[in-house]
Amino acid sequence: MPDEIIILRGVSKHLPMGGRPLQILQPISLGITRGQFVAVMGPSGSGKSTLLSLLAGLEPPSTGEIVVNGAELTRLNEDELARFRGHNIGFVFQAFHLIPNLTALENILVPLEIMGVAGAAARARELLDEVGLSARGAHYPAQLSGGEQQRVCIARALINDPHILVADEPTGSLDAANEEIVMRLLRDLHRQGRTVIMVTHDPVVARLADRRVDLHHGRIASQEIFAMADEEQFDEVLEEMWVINESNELAEVGRMSVPGALPVSLAVDKMRQMGLVTVQAHPPQPHGHKPVLDRCHDFLRPAEEMPADGDLIVGFTDRGRQRAADIIRRHRLAERLFMETLHMQDEQEIEQQACKFEHILSPEATEKICTFLGHPKTCPHGSPIPPGVCCGS
Ligand code: ADP
Ligand code: MG
Repeated sequence: MPDEIIILRGVSKHLPMGGRPLQILQPISLGITRGQFVAVMGPSGSGKSTLLSLLAGLEPPSTGEIVVNGAELTRLNEDELARFRGHNIGFVFQAFHLIPNLTALENILVPLEIMGVAGAAARARELLDEVGLSARGAHYPAQLSGGEQQRVCIARALINDPHILVADEPTGSLDAANEEIVMRLLRDLHRQGRTVIMVTHDPVVARLADRRVDLHHGRIASQEIFAMADEEQFDEVLEEMWVINESNELAEVGRMSVPGALPVSLAVDKMRQMGLVTVQAHPPQPHGHKPVLDRCHDFLRPAEEMPADGDLIVGFTDRGRQRAADIIRRHRLAERLFMETLHMQDEQEIEQQACKFEHILSPEATEKICTFLGHPKTCPHGSPIPPGVCCGS
């Protein structure tokens, strides 16, 4: 396989427990490409932490071969393994493992002390800054919140500039706000080109990854490569933006409620990278917000409390606007079809179905429906249907 940075071949782990050895991992074969972000999931006790410590060279496998960045781990002795880890791998644990009588800054420097590198305090300060804790360098772990401690751990994991990051339930003990900060950091590290392998219980956190590996009783039960679900969420964001813009309002991150796996702010980030949206700072001037009804989203999920203002203003690129128009067109044509032609009555059912059809109708089917309906200009609620090629515009 091209450029696999981590290769496991027939790797298993058992522990000698008296007479009968305890099998923790059945033979597993797995390849992880450079720069991939893998989420490892599975019930407690399924072997996730064991898998992580094997591929990070923290413990030897019982059978099989582990090759990381070209090095065959089972052939290395203790010292070589320690050096290998120091150069290649950063660790983030759920239970932080910070040393209580060292400050945040000193904790970050611990891996370097072990590696015998001196004079890296400046780099450690930089890292503290990167994780948003520049003012907390002199604080002890007990003076930091859980989320802050986890960010110190991430900084510590980065002090050697490792190209592989291994994280065992890094958000497991964090509240939602800190979870998002830590996810964001991991996402950024991945974006910098690092390979990230992360254990998590949270399917939302797992969505941050490119790929998911599920363990069950020490076996790989299933694997999934993400993409489709993300695309649907991007559609949802574009659709919401369209409706908001139709009411002459600004689309603000924090004020959009959109179904999907990622928090809207992270979805918007990905969409910006893909060239679908632009992002700018929220205007400082106070302004009101008209209530905006995106029937699709509001019918499926009643609007929650919205903050008065969002963080960022999101706008369309040309490509994003075209894609949004296509989604809205499919949705509103589907509504008309269900109501007029199929005489469906239940408004909620109509919305539910239209929200599915908007993602799956092909351009050909959309043109056929539009033509069949006589190129309608509005949806049953009176909102304009963006014209298509078949409308001769
Ligand atoms: P997970 O991270 O998925 O919760 P682990 O990899 O920590 O699972 O552990 C898998 C199984 O192996 C568990 O049943 C655990 O109790 C057992 N196990 C792990 N390490 C040891 C050990 N050193 N001694 C005995 N049992 C262990
Ligand atoms: Mg575990």
